[in-house]
Amino acid sequence: MNREIDLRSCSISDLEKLSESLGEKKFRGKQIFGWVHKGIDSIEDMNNLPKKFIDELKLVSYVNNMDILEVLTSRVDGTKKYLFALKDGNVIESVLMKYRHGNTVCVSTQVGCKMGCGFCASTIGGIVRNLSAGEIIGQILSIGKNIGERISNVVLMGSGEPLDNYNEVLKFLRLVNNELGLNIGMRNITLSTCGIVPKILDLAKEDIQITLAISLHASNDKLRDKIMPINKVYNINSIINACKEYIKITNRRITFEYSLIKGVNDDIESAKELAGILKGMLCHVNLIPLNEVREKSFKSSENNKVKAFQDTLMKYGIEATIRRELGSDIEAACGQLRKDYIDKGDN
Ligand code: SAH
Repeated sequence: MNREIDLRSCSISDLEKLSESLGEKKFRGKQIFGWVHKGIDSIEDMNNLPKKFIDELKLVSYVNNMDILEVLTSRVDGTKKYLFALKDGNVIESVLMKYRHGNTVCVSTQVGCKMGCGFCASTIGGIVRNLSAGEIIGQILSIGKNIGERISNVVLMGSGEPLDNYNEVLKFLRLVNNELGLNIGMRNITLSTCGIVPKILDLAKEDIQITLAISLHASNDKLRDKIMPINKVYNINSIINACKEYIKITNRRITFEYSLIKGVNDDIESAKELAGILKGMLCHVNLIPLNEVREKSFKSSENNKVKAFQDTLMKYGIEATIRRELGSDIEAACGQLRKDYIDKGDN
């Protein structure tokens, strides 16, 4: 038989069934789960399992599902960017951010992305495939092991559109939250989406306490159509209605992400228009100075423009924060590192 079961993708009940199918007691499933989520990368390390069982497990399954190809560490703030090779040779990237409140990992959910946002490097080569739940959690386990510290927060803001890979992302959320595993609280997890409306409504019904972040980046459909093609399918109005429904069901505050692009969406009129859209909602706006992507012509707004945009939103009663730029010296833009790696290989 092939070693085809990725243990990092398995729930406790999957592992209990696997143990029983190999003639072992059910409780071995929980033991395996514990080991996998401790971040070990070899079945040999599961030292409280019988030797014979370890050998059988090794025949049908594996733990390590990615290898670190490269780590870039920011000299400015200690942010680390990881490039991983998956078992099939595909390459993905993840980021570790060190905050006073703990370590946050930003994970990718797909290899590439098909959403086509005009300012984003992740989407330049289109989508290759979805990541499995095990490959999403593998990024956190590998980084935790690499730094020897606990990861306390997760953001699904790497390459890919999480709600375009709904089932594996939901499976991942339940794995990472499991108290016998990494035990990362749902409240410490943020999922960012470009606005796949039906999936936002599905997510509302999952009964999980994650923070939903919506990549809005424009205050009217005319502009959003241009910079985010998904807007032609789910326009601003439909997203806002879905968000209102989400808030009604979950009572959770939504974050709206707004990347400020010089001369495109950073004027005071846009800030006023945005305030009008969000008025009265349980939400806040996260303003992100654009990370300039080499292949794209968009430029980042100047600091005074960002500040004026924030002030306008606040004046109209919308809470707004400016995201601190981390890892500015290490290809921080979404998908840039992976793209550079692939381009190097093409030459
Ligand atoms: N597909 C998800 C996750 C994407 S990455 C989504 O669309 O939300 C997380 C955030 O970074 C999104 O808000 C995305 O629009 C934004 N982003 C992508 N490229 C960027 C860039 N070059 N500069 C600033 N923000 C960027």
